[in-house]
Amino acid sequence: MTDNALPASLAHARKRLESALIDAKRPANDASLLAVSKTKPASMIRQAWTLGQREFGENYLQEALDKQAELADVEGIVWHFIGPLQSNKTRAVAEHFAWMHTVDRLKIAKRLSEQRPSHLPPLNVCLQVNISREASKSGVMPEDVAALAEQIATLPGLQLRGLMAIPAPASGLEAQRAPFAELRQLLEALQKTLPDTPLDTLSMGMSDDLEAAVLEGATLVRLGTAIFGARDTA
Ligand SMILES: *Cc1c(COP(=O)(O)O)cnc(C)c1O
Repeated sequence: MTDNALPASLAHARKRLESALIDAKRPANDASLLAVSKTKPASMIRQAWTLGQREFGENYLQEALDKQAELADVEGIVWHFIGPLQSNKTRAVAEHFAWMHTVDRLKIAKRLSEQRPSHLPPLNVCLQVNISREASKSGVMPEDVAALAEQIATLPGLQLRGLMAIPAPASGLEAQRAPFAELRQLLEALQKTLPDTPLDTLSMGMSDDLEAAVLEGATLVRLGTAIFGARDTA
């Protein structure tokens, strides 16, 4: 199955990112597109791959593992886990992903580190920050980021790369920028306290707020709807 809209929507998403980087006076290629393929079939991932996309984000573990099996013949896909994870499900993430964006407690981090196979490079991780302080949302609170990052930076199976957030929805560029600016400032603080850790990643910005995120330094924007179209389910 191929999707007739995908080539145009992927091209449009690339243009959006390119324009946002220009508006932010940042170099081209200073941020990349993470194609969020949750609920979408493996055939669409395959098609996006033929169009040059390599980084894919999945939220639901079993669904992701099924698609990975279907796409075992496709070379060079970089899989990112971006959904909530129960601590009894860490092994599959440690074994089957290159990146994990939603680490928000030490217990999960320790398990991922212990379970990372020794023949693979360390698992790249971002700490998920509850930047809008929503009671219902996962993520470490901003004031607890430094302590958690310090502990995670020492785990041998992990490579701490940066921070990730999903701010509360806001409309208007200025309102959208504020939480992204806070996340950037948290990363800048960590870069000072952990000078030996390659903290180069701000995973922020989705289909509705990519421009605001890029203005505040996003390096990885997670686009689902804008690339693959609306989802039937969450
Ligand atoms: C679904 C999802 C996205 C993509 O959202 P869109 O609004 O469809 O671009 C990005 N990040 C996370 C963590 C998601 O769960």
